[in-house]
Amino acid sequence: MKLMSKIIDIFEYFGIHDYFNTDTMIIGPCPIHEGDNSQAFNINVDPDSEYYGAWFCNTKHCHNEGNDIIALIGLLLSAKTNKEYSFRDVLRFSNKFTENVNLDFSSSIVKQDTLSSID
Ligand SMILES: [Zn+2]
Repeated sequence: MKLMSKIIDIFEYFGIHDYFNTDTMIIGPCPIHEGDNSQAFNINVDPDSEYYGAWFCNTKHCHNEGNDIIALIGLLLSAKTNKEYSFRDVLRFSNKFTENVNLDFSSSIVKQDTLSSID
């Protein structure tokens, strides 16, 4: 997921500064519900992990509708603007940070289609 390599830029864009890094995680207050628990939110930033890009809000479960980076960006956009964002809008926005998001996205669609056609 190329977007994950831009996670610091994405955080910067949304004005998220109040976090700390471990080897595998970024941890801070949840930027979605803007809670005050300084460790409520974490996102896996370890490219070798199978959970790379997965994020969790441990206090209000903001990740319930999806805990990948695309869902996170969608929620951040909505929180910032009080509007709903479609998946397509989020992808368009994401192209600001990496030019290859659509390629990654379409390849994952192909993979899903392939899987469901096997079923
Ligand atoms: Zn939250």
